[in-house]
Amino acid sequence: MAGASVKVAVRVRPFNSREIGRNAKCVIQMQGNTTCISNPKQPKDGAKNFTFDYSYWSHTTPDDPGFTSQTQVYKDIGEEMLLHAFEGYNVCIFAYGQTGAGKSYTMMGKQEPGQEGIIPQLCEDLFQRTGENTDPDLTYSVEVSYMEIYCERVRDLLNPKSQGTLRVREHPILGPYVEDLSKLAVTGFTDIRDLMDAGNKARTVAATNMNETSSRSHAVFTIVFTQKRRDQMTSLDTEKVSKISLVDLAGSERADSSGAKGMRLKEGANINKSLTTLGKVISALAEMSSKKRKSDFIPYRDSVLTWLLKENLGGNSRTAMIAALSPADINYEETLSTLRYADRAK
Ligand code: ADP
Repeated sequence: MAGASVKVAVRVRPFNSREIGRNAKCVIQMQGNTTCISNPKQPKDGAKNFTFDYSYWSHTTPDDPGFTSQTQVYKDIGEEMLLHAFEGYNVCIFAYGQTGAGKSYTMMGKQEPGQEGIIPQLCEDLFQRTGENTDPDLTYSVEVSYMEIYCERVRDLLNPKSQGTLRVREHPILGPYVEDLSKLAVTGFTDIRDLMDAGNKARTVAATNMNETSSRSHAVFTIVFTQKRRDQMTSLDTEKVSKISLVDLAGSERADSSGAKGMRLKEGANINKSLTTLGKVISALAEMSSKKRKSDFIPYRDSVLTWLLKENLGGNSRTAMIAALSPADINYEETLSTLRYADRAK
């Protein structure tokens, strides 16, 4: 059975210096949860509207009444997913979009007050809530892993010594997993922060013509959250285990638009394979939950990313996707394709 439909949000960032330098015009408008994109070549009649669960306007400054802060994005999406994890669901939050559109900012943000993204806010909230527990029969444990999927291969970001790629295997009950991936127990937010900082330094980044350091890999941060309850009468423990996967996807730009050749082009094809498969999986799940789809075949196996997230996407899980948008006319084609991708996930 599919879970409830996927929550889908889009978010538009401020102009970057490159866009300002090229005197870019803003092609995005938002009203309520509707996003409108106008075609810079046909400004009069080329506008298209898309409706999502949330359309986040972060293009102007925080004093703008319509502005959406990092805190608000967390409250709407992160907190909802965290509460589902407390209920025992597996949850997954993805950030999708062109390189430079704001995926990492939304997921990680910056280590400055008010600038922290969903991941640090969710971790902090998780420890805040578990710290408030006064029930002696209820105990919690938190373990984290952090991996990168690059060209369909998995690398451990928490174990810099593991140079090679790790094997993806399948457990008969627990489903797909990565063999030998480090899973570290953490007891507080600072532990996680230190691990993530080390992991982020280890991420593969390569220059493309689009951006000086363009991320060509998917980063998957996973929190395994276990709630153990002791029955006073029987002294037996029951466990509720939830997997929280927080995914910063590789840039969705097409290989040809970043002038990729050779190895880069192969990277592009592989990245697009996971993104295309993810899109297919999410739309299949959305169709199933709205009963538009008869067949329950979901193509999880077609990419490493979707295969590993199988338990976080279908069945007993809740999923949210945030698509990051550039506001600029010069990125119109990519932004339109991001909006279409997000639209198919609903
Ligand atoms: P991506 O991860 O999609 O490649 P980034 O998150 O690194 O993109 O964003 C590119 C730049 O834009 C960064 O300097 C980031 O700080 C800035 N940025 C992105 N989104 C926002 C936002 N909502 N508000 C302010 N700055 C942002």
